[in-house]
Amino acid sequence: MKRQISAVKGTKDILPQEVGKWQNVETIAKQIFELYGYREIRTPVFEATELFEKGTGETSDIVIKEMYTFVDKGGRSLTLRPEYTPSVVRSIIDNRLYLRSHPLRFYYIGPMFRYDKPQKGRYRQFHQVDIEVFGEEDPAIDAEIVEMADYLLKKLQVLDTETLVNSVGCRKCRPSYIKELRSQAEKVKDSLCIDCQRKVVTNPLRIFDCKLETCQEVARDFHEITDFLCQDCENHFNLFCSYLDFYGLRFKVEPRLVRGIDYYTKTTFEIISSRLGAQDALLGGGRYDDMMKDFGGPDIPGIGFAAGLERIISVIPFLEKKREFIYLVHLGEEPKKAGMELSQFLRRKGIECLIEYKERNLKSQMSRANKLGAAWVLIVGEEEIRKGMYQLKNMTTGVQEERSREEIPEIIQAAS
Ligand code: AMP
Repeated sequence: MKRQISAVKGTKDILPQEVGKWQNVETIAKQIFELYGYREIRTPVFEATELFEKGTGETSDIVIKEMYTFVDKGGRSLTLRPEYTPSVVRSIIDNRLYLRSHPLRFYYIGPMFRYDKPQKGRYRQFHQVDIEVFGEEDPAIDAEIVEMADYLLKKLQVLDTETLVNSVGCRKCRPSYIKELRSQAEKVKDSLCIDCQRKVVTNPLRIFDCKLETCQEVARDFHEITDFLCQDCENHFNLFCSYLDFYGLRFKVEPRLVRGIDYYTKTTFEIISSRLGAQDALLGGGRYDDMMKDFGGPDIPGIGFAAGLERIISVIPFLEKKREFIYLVHLGEEPKKAGMELSQFLRRKGIECLIEYKERNLKSQMSRANKLGAAWVLIVGEEEIRKGMYQLKNMTTGVQEERSREEIPEIIQAAS
């Protein structure tokens, strides 16, 4: 017996009946991003593994546990991208895009890959819409991208959201916080999971990312980073919050929001929804002012966010637009060829057209047109070819009329 091959664990097909919802979300996201001055950038799905080790960070869960890494036939270590930011930064440096006038604003829509434990809202191949801005330090841009994210979610009719914001400081002030955190965590090490015990040594900030309730409980007693910010980071954060107020956005300061990636500096934020269940983050992002220079590029600050499409799509309504297509019925070999030519003519006029290739009588072709939901049926028989006039039936009204080849597209377009 032949063995059926199924989709790989943690991956999903996006089927024709749901793809309309995806296309809608993608179209609205693109329209909004372009309104704010963003332009699309597309980079390869795999990159040198080193890019993510260096970018996403060697102490992040993504790099330690979740990367799809493989060696290609040329002996290179490659990784399917688990997130987008390092790829964009690499591309900007590779293509010297930083020479263009700042700020640079890019967006991207596509799949990401993480070897995480699959569950509702968490997949091994998932899709993100992602935006990045480079070359702007002003906290007004931090507020602008949160406002854009909020607008996007409103346009998509995502309900019951909450915006969480924080500052994770910078290279000047974070080390003293990490030192303090390490000494606090050392004292309660035995109450932490094995993973977090390791984090006490490597990067205690990552304990806040732990998904275990027991570790989260312990971490609730740790000092908050907001008490350790240097003057520059504190001013930046206060201004960021005041600009969010200016936009009339409601938000909550969440001092434990460090997000699972090592490169963040200053601002981090997340928008969650109570409609999602355990995996409640719809989108998240933050500032990464050091990444470009750490990658050997110029000293240009960056900020961005990524939104998970599977999660957004799972909580939004969708009204599918009815497709208006013609079903072309033909009777006999000559009419079949005439029908093939007519359908080509109609498609060139921008009209969706289906033609039946199986031998069927008129009645069964008509019932098939009905079943498929055709808006119109065009009947081509020998008599019609001789007269150059075809039977066009409106399936909604039931009215059937004789029409010439030229009249057909005009009538259909006028009705839609
Ligand atoms: P991150 O890159 O981890 O900040 O994630 C940004 C957004 O991507 C999250 O808020 C989620 O909406 C989505 N996301 C992250 N990981 C997954 C996953 N494994 N499956 C589905 N969506 C995800």
